Amino acid sequence: MIDEIKIFHKDLTTIQSELEAHKPYEACGVLIGTLDGSTAIVEKALPITNSKRTRRSFELDPKEHYDAWNWAEKNEKEIIGVYHTHPVSSAVPSLWDRETMQNDPSVWLIAGADGIRAYVWDNGLKAVKMTECSLISICSRPNCLFRLTFPTGVS
Ligand SMILES: [Zn+2]
Repeated sequence: MIDEIKIFHKDLTTIQSELEAHKPYEACGVLIGTLDGSTAIVEKALPITNSKRTRRSFELDPKEHYDAWNWAEKNEKEIIGVYHTHPVSSAVPSLWDRETMQNDPSVWLIAGADGIRAYVWDNGLKAVKMTECSLISICSRPNCLFRLTFPTGVS
């Protein structure tokens, strides 16, 4: 079970600007990276279209989600979690989020009006410690995604 998530400032910035860009609707995406024991290391937060386009829930566009999985696999990474935004409420899972999380063991990162927090569902809602990591720690990692750009329009 994941109890810590490491993420770059640039990815937190991506998520924050997605929140602003899609207001008042929720924005969503996937967190691509690697697992190191119970620590998830996010190497890229990749925005994905919210095909529901609602203010209270989200659905990852299936085609884009599939492309993201393929891309992660090709680069020997995993999708370690999802993120979504709560433009007008706090970064706490809604009832809908909690129900959905119960079928998804990955990390749920929520950017709310009051900040960004991460959670997992493990017989109940658990907060995940979030650490902002420096670029130096990642650049020494093999096959780092930092400089890779997700190819748009892959089919
Ligand atoms: Zn939510």
